[in-house]
Amino acid sequence: MCQETERQYYYMDRARQHVQALTQQLGRIPTCCVTTFGCQMNARDSEKLAGILRRVGYEVTETEDADFVIFNTCTVRDNANQRVYGRLGELKSRKKHNPAMKIALCGCMMQEPAVIEKLRSSYRFVDLVFGTHNIFKFAELLCRSFEEQGMIVDIWEDTDQIVEDLPVERKYPFKSGINIMFGCNNFCSYCIVPYVRGRERSREPMEILREIRQLVAEGVVEVMLLGQNVNSYGKNLENPISFAQLLREVEQIEGLERIRFMTSHPKDLSEELIQVMKESKKICRHLHLPLQSGSTRILERMNRRYTKEQYLALAEKIRREIPDIAITTDIIVGFPGETMEDVEETIDVIRRVKYDNAFTFIYSKRTGTPAAAMENQVPQDQVKEGFDRVLKVVQDTAREQVARYQGQRAQVLVEEVNTQDERLLTGRMSNNTLVHFPGPPELVGRIVTVLLEECQGFYYMGHMVSEKSLAKSL
Ligand code: SF4
Repeated sequence: MCQETERQYYYMDRARQHVQALTQQLGRIPTCCVTTFGCQMNARDSEKLAGILRRVGYEVTETEDADFVIFNTCTVRDNANQRVYGRLGELKSRKKHNPAMKIALCGCMMQEPAVIEKLRSSYRFVDLVFGTHNIFKFAELLCRSFEEQGMIVDIWEDTDQIVEDLPVERKYPFKSGINIMFGCNNFCSYCIVPYVRGRERSREPMEILREIRQLVAEGVVEVMLLGQNVNSYGKNLENPISFAQLLREVEQIEGLERIRFMTSHPKDLSEELIQVMKESKKICRHLHLPLQSGSTRILERMNRRYTKEQYLALAEKIRREIPDIAITTDIIVGFPGETMEDVEETIDVIRRVKYDNAFTFIYSKRTGTPAAAMENQVPQDQVKEGFDRVLKVVQDTAREQVARYQGQRAQVLVEEVNTQDERLLTGRMSNNTLVHFPGPPELVGRIVTVLLEECQGFYYMGHMVSEKSLAKSL
């Protein structure tokens, strides 16, 4: 255990005393709630926040009607910020009824100086504010919020520290996200992530492998390796290894059944990675490959460092080498300077790559990014027209693509009892497609074989044919 980890455990014990005093005062065990905004990397960080809160004596709940509420924020689009301010208003009235309540904010939004200023002036009821770089210091900051008056604010510009072995409270017993690296050096011109998550730093491979072995010992069968751009994994390590090499090591772990990863930037997805995916028995047949735009002119303004032709050639190569792969993507419509001809280029790529799904976003101006200062911000009506056209083509091609397995058998990791109909279970195929089928709740967390009877747009209805075993299934 590194020195900083030991130090944080010291503060967890100290915070525990404060929570015990609060338990006396309230005459009950105080409750807490961790609310996550944004991406899977945030979701994984939130599991650490919940792990620390449980360790210091809080009862972890799903309701924000709690004694300690923390928002782990996102700032990738402006509406994410607005949602946080809106939700803070609700917490303010809760705190009026529960003066012992503490409110904390962390995550990407807190790395924006304008946000801190606004919180200091208009949201003084917030007790604790920290950023993305010092999340490992949560226990120490929690102590300060018990021992000091007023709002505690601790935001770091950057860090090269990665602190391991902090407590974790996982949401799912059978699957887990694993942050393999932090930060991003790509500086796509529309993106705020490099400014709020800092420079790329990778975790040591042995720490990642140790964590996964531990998770498998606890019953995890599927892991999702996470990074802003996993292709850059390992570059800053003393003994650099490639992401493909890391995957080969993870593949060796006994008991692990499925490996997923995101996100892979098209500019540096290697031949080696394609071969590792092709030969693997465990890497899932799904690749998320963000396109953003199909127009080479716009890709240049976005600083994406690949052209339309290069992206198409890469997608073709991946399909040739791994024919049963599902490719999904991210698309931005309305980037400054975009014309309807550019939108047509994007539509052309969608038709040629045939995505299983695409997350389509309207461009959101992020202060501090180069794109925010660009001229030719696109008029809203033109953005809407382009967005609707892109969405229609995405849905049409995806519906056709997802339906290609109708009538076949697939191995499905059962994730939950269906929220709409509790007679049904819901799970995911290796290619990430959702499947609903009748079955008992005991199967949650298991991989079963399901006959895909009917494709209903982006998911299948089916019935179970056996618990795994059958060779001839997807
Ligand atoms: S690769 Fe580009 S879009 Fe993705 S996080 Fe980095 S800067 Fe943002």
